[in-house]
Amino acid sequence: LTKNVVVIGAGIIGLCTALHVRQSGHRVTVVTRDQVGDGASAVNAGAIATAEILPMTGAATLMNAPKWLFDPLGPLHVRLRQLPSMTPWGLQFLKTAKPSRRAAAIDALSRLMAPAAADHQTLLREHGLTELLQQNGGLFVYKSAQARASDSAAWAARQARGIIAHEVDREEIQTREPAMGDAAHCGYFVPGWSHYRDPQELVISIAEIARKAGVVIEQGRVISIDRQDDKPSRIELDDGRAISFDDLVIAAGAWSGELSANLGDKCPLQSQRGYNTTLPRPGVDLNTFVTFSEDHFVASPMAMGLRIGGAVEFGGLDAEPNFERSRALLKLAGKYLPGLDTTGGTYGDGHRPSTPDDVPVIGRSPNHSNVYYGFGHGHLGLTYGPTTGRLIAEMIDGKPSIDLVPYRIDRF
Ligand SMILES: Cc1cc2nc3c(=O)[nH]c(=O)nc-3n(C[C@H](O)[C@H](O)[C@H](O)COP(=O)(O)OP(=O)(O)OC[C@H]3O[C@@H](n4cnc5c(N)ncnc54)[C@H](O)[C@@H]3O)c2cc1C
Repeated sequence: LTKNVVVIGAGIIGLCTALHVRQSGHRVTVVTRDQVGDGASAVNAGAIATAEILPMTGAATLMNAPKWLFDPLGPLHVRLRQLPSMTPWGLQFLKTAKPSRRAAAIDALSRLMAPAAADHQTLLREHGLTELLQQNGGLFVYKSAQARASDSAAWAARQARGIIAHEVDREEIQTREPAMGDAAHCGYFVPGWSHYRDPQELVISIAEIARKAGVVIEQGRVISIDRQDDKPSRIELDDGRAISFDDLVIAAGAWSGELSANLGDKCPLQSQRGYNTTLPRPGVDLNTFVTFSEDHFVASPMAMGLRIGGAVEFGGLDAEPNFERSRALLKLAGKYLPGLDTTGGTYGDGHRPSTPDDVPVIGRSPNHSNVYYGFGHGHLGLTYGPTTGRLIAEMIDGKPSIDLVPYRIDRF
């Protein structure tokens, strides 16, 4: 049965979903407020982050959070005016620190991560985009043996889930990355890690492929979802247009919570804003994607230069960006990369759509059988994009290939 499917959002999640649903034979319209290629899906660090299966509620975060919260340039900051609206998210976040809830979240994230790299490979191979991906692995560095040891439980948990990670010492780090100074004492190398040379190019390419396959992409902001006999049946846009659908997919990133609430499906979603700088002439070459574990930032060698980024800021969706954060990360990066030229960079920021347990929402609305959700992918939306898109397409055809109960919107 061919359906008319509307997808709200043209980030990585919405576009991958649209492509998969179209490939299953349905008519698809994507509606997006911003231009394709704007926002989090284009500004990110580009990693298919295969080692990241642990939610943020680890012991280190809980211990360090009180100190970080009061440092506006620290790795995790809450803007004061955001505190009241963060309360439901914060309470759920604390609940998910409970060992049983945390173990369930790790299970859910691992199950989604297992096919992620292969789903990217299929997408890239099928559409001739393989040259966009750099498959050089990922390096995690620490400033001391003690610092690495304090993270050993996390690495053991990853390795127990089949993630391959080799210990490296300073000599091996500097052999792999001659630009790295002595601050990087030791670390891990993850051979299964890869990253895109330009995430914006990836998003724009998927949109082009989707268009050629027959997906219609409309620009406009969805302001309401109308119902007929209580069944959602059309969206209204801010320019007065209305588009009818059989099935609706909400993949509007950090803005999805407002749309799902309109349908009676509440989800404590928050933006964790991230920042970066892309340096066109960094003065140093990196061969791999590097995570600076204790300082909570990454360096990603891209086609446009070296992208240095990280930070988590809870400040809501309307606050002005604070690019002091980008500059603070550049300063930190200079400590590890002595030859780094930090001039001439372009600042970027994006809203990571974040659930309290770091597990995305992927599934059918409990209230409306023709509405599907694909949002809340937090720090890992690029990684999970093709897998989420495939799962939503499978659900629309009534046969999801994994149990989607752990990703339900009403789990909180
Ligand atoms: C600095 C930074 C670094 C990151 N690094 C990585 C990384 O290395 N690897 C990784 O896997 N992930 C990374 N992420 C996370 C990743 O970028 C996000 O999880 C992902 O982009 C979310 O994609 P999305 O499609 O859900 O949302 P978005 O990309 O935000 O797209 C949302 C879409 O919804 C549309 N929209 C919103 N509201 C409406 C409305 N009312 N009507 C119509 N359209 C609407 C917007 O226009 C947009 O098209 C990073 C994020 C940041 C900020």
